[in-house]
Amino acid sequence: MNDPNIPIPFFAPDIGQEEIDEVIDSMTQGWITTGKKTKRFEADFAAYLGGGMECVAVNSATAGLHLALEAMGVGPGDEVIVPDYTFTASAEVIRYLGADPVFVDIDKQTLNVTPQAIEEKITPRTKVIMVVHFAGLSADMTGILALAQKHSLKTIEDAAHALPTTHRGTKIGALKSDAAVFSFYATKTITTGEGGMIATRNPQLAARCKVMRLHGIDRDTFDRYVDNKVNWKYDVVAPGYKYNMTDIAASLGIQQLKKADRFQRRRQEIADRYNELLTGLPLILPVDATNGDMHSWHLYVIRVTKDAPLNRDQLLEALSAKGISCSVHFIPLHRLKYWRETYGLTKQEFPNAEDVFSGCLSLPHFSKMSDDQVERVAAALKELLS
Ligand SMILES: *Cc1c(COP(=O)(O)O)cnc(C)c1O
Repeated sequence: MNDPNIPIPFFAPDIGQEEIDEVIDSMTQGWITTGKKTKRFEADFAAYLGGGMECVAVNSATAGLHLALEAMGVGPGDEVIVPDYTFTASAEVIRYLGADPVFVDIDKQTLNVTPQAIEEKITPRTKVIMVVHFAGLSADMTGILALAQKHSLKTIEDAAHALPTTHRGTKIGALKSDAAVFSFYATKTITTGEGGMIATRNPQLAARCKVMRLHGIDRDTFDRYVDNKVNWKYDVVAPGYKYNMTDIAASLGIQQLKKADRFQRRRQEIADRYNELLTGLPLILPVDATNGDMHSWHLYVIRVTKDAPLNRDQLLEALSAKGISCSVHFIPLHRLKYWRETYGLTKQEFPNAEDVFSGCLSLPHFSKMSDDQVERVAAALKELLS
């Protein structure tokens, strides 16, 4: 690991023998698509969030966001407020339903949206506020939930980065928003390869998501009226989707979830070490959570300042030449062709996102990273920026 010639990847999943054994168990039993393991993963996840939640497993966070918005009744003519500084999936699901995203700029320090910036975008058409907890730092959910209540709006959290994250001592996923959706994509804080989870306190919303994740088949209501032993019968109540999670993926999830806290502690250690080693360089370092709250540290995003000897693109290239892979989160949506052209977005409307994007760089940051690798990344930055 200390060999300076071995490249440092941007990310590597942390998968152990437990995950492998659990997957083999599913394959040996012969039940590989949605079944017992998926149910168990949903129950484990609800318990992990602290109880009182209903969890619905799906095959991606994108699918989960789509289902949750559908269950909230979002449709043509509605507006959903969404951060400009996010992954395109946050906004695309709004378009799936024929509704319109309304993009809001972020705060330059937290890289999250604020209640003040959201409030300016509320119109009579607004139906839902979507929040993204960027990099795993909670947005001001207290303020945002109060704002939603004041205007009778629904809230959905794109919690793709936020496991485990807390807001005022409560885990993201257990707050009073209408739904929170987690991602288990290959590079997220826990992974099932592809996968997602909807968490909600609303049983009707959970029930609708369960029906719509599998073709709109409503087995439960049908079963109430027929002989319980007859299980080939079902009814279809809507043209649903094919968004169910497989038991193979759930097997990974069951074991990864048990390690979520340990993974976070290691990422916290790495973030703390980076903060220490990178102090004094022409960089803006990411802020931690305050008041004892937990930052999931899904991403460690630095920002190259204007007086640095290299700009972001040059620094990314130079690090890559040293075998250090970095990434950029995110290209703001207003810079992407579809969003820019469809909604006539300009750079002037998003000064903070523009400023952050111009210098941001996500460093290698994953639980399996060794201390030596962290030191190598920091040493390379020191050499290039001094
Ligand atoms: C990764 C990501 C998603 C999409 O997650 P999938 O599980 O790949 O669908 C959505 N929003 C944000 C902010 C993400 O980073």
